[in-house]
Amino acid sequence: MDLVVRNVRLWRGEGVCDLYIANGTFVEPGSVDGAEEIDASGRLCVAGFLEPHIHLDKALINESVRLNVSGTLDEAIEIIWERKRAYTVDEIAERAGRVIRSALANGVTRIRSHVDIDNIGGLRPLKGVSMARRQHANVVDVQIVAFPQEGILQNEGTEALMWQAMEEGADVVGGMPFNEKHPQDSARHISIAFEIAKHFDADIDMHVDETDDASARTLEMLAEQTIEHGWQGRVTAGHTCALSGYDENYANHVIALIREASIHMITNPATNLMLQGRLDAQPKRRGITRVKELLAEGINVSFGQDCVKDTFYPFGRVDPLEVGLIAAHAAHMSLPNEIETVFDMQANAAAKLMRLTDYGFQPGCKADLVILDAANASGALTRQAARSVVIKNGRVIVENEKKQDWRWSPEGE
Ligand SMILES: [Zn+2]
Repeated sequence: MDLVVRNVRLWRGEGVCDLYIANGTFVEPGSVDGAEEIDASGRLCVAGFLEPHIHLDKALINESVRLNVSGTLDEAIEIIWERKRAYTVDEIAERAGRVIRSALANGVTRIRSHVDIDNIGGLRPLKGVSMARRQHANVVDVQIVAFPQEGILQNEGTEALMWQAMEEGADVVGGMPFNEKHPQDSARHISIAFEIAKHFDADIDMHVDETDDASARTLEMLAEQTIEHGWQGRVTAGHTCALSGYDENYANHVIALIREASIHMITNPATNLMLQGRLDAQPKRRGITRVKELLAEGINVSFGQDCVKDTFYPFGRVDPLEVGLIAAHAAHMSLPNEIETVFDMQANAAAKLMRLTDYGFQPGCKADLVILDAANASGALTRQAARSVVIKNGRVIVENEKKQDWRWSPEGE
């Protein structure tokens, strides 16, 4: 036994218990001779926070680019073109590394990052984030998604780069099918992603209909092709803002298809509250996908940080408690069971879409663990609880004791 964590309160568990760790995994109770011991004192523990949708390659570039004056997605993308030409692998790795470490301090032990693949930056974003992944291999697991943000058909050379990116270490095939010139090109964009995914036996994770335009149809296309290719349970759709703009009949049709295709959904409320509805007169659309309607149909829904100080979004600390709080507001999730669901969106829901088989506290699971200065999920979100101890692969990596000394007390009667 290497480490014993005493008196932990497992989320959704009864009372407190002890956790036993050996060789980086949770194990059955046994001899604790010579093992390090930590006392969680009844505080809430989660099996490491998960960040299923972030862009490490673009993170922290907002200090070195012109401002996004319109605040729209289109302007955010245009500004990056210039900056991307000046990218170097080392500089991307340095920025990505800083973000990985701040995520870790917030208790995030596994990340899925998209990296841009296009004829402007080539494979440098992939190489930079891969370098940061290697540098942090012992403390954070990073999955990389090859993300053709500029489109595949309208950005010459991107299809070949996508194949190359998968050869050179990307794990998941990305997409942005709405960013093509014609609907038939969007459908072809999705087909190409499936060809690549099938060749590499890889999952798919696309940016889908990140627009207020209610005529966007690529979520339906993705669901239909997922069923056609038999890729159920292996496809994730992020953003899906247009779904909130559809009329009820069409929205219900698409949600039924998503369920049939077992597509995992990710909402990115921080970025989309900031970007969407910018060109609207009042009332402005909020750009948040139909989270509660999807959940009501039993569809797996998670949330992600998406952007950290880039041209899309000026904030972001990769803190699932912060994004969770924003998600609860954005999706109108206020009841106790809804707040529990929000908490689960960065836990089991994210684990399911990232297809983690070693997540949780069962013997054999990776010993990733965060001790929160809270007793329950609602308290953790409300107080944005301190991540007292962060453990990765059975090793204590970060301690964050937050001290508050009061030098005043209420007057007695
Ligand atoms: Zn994104």
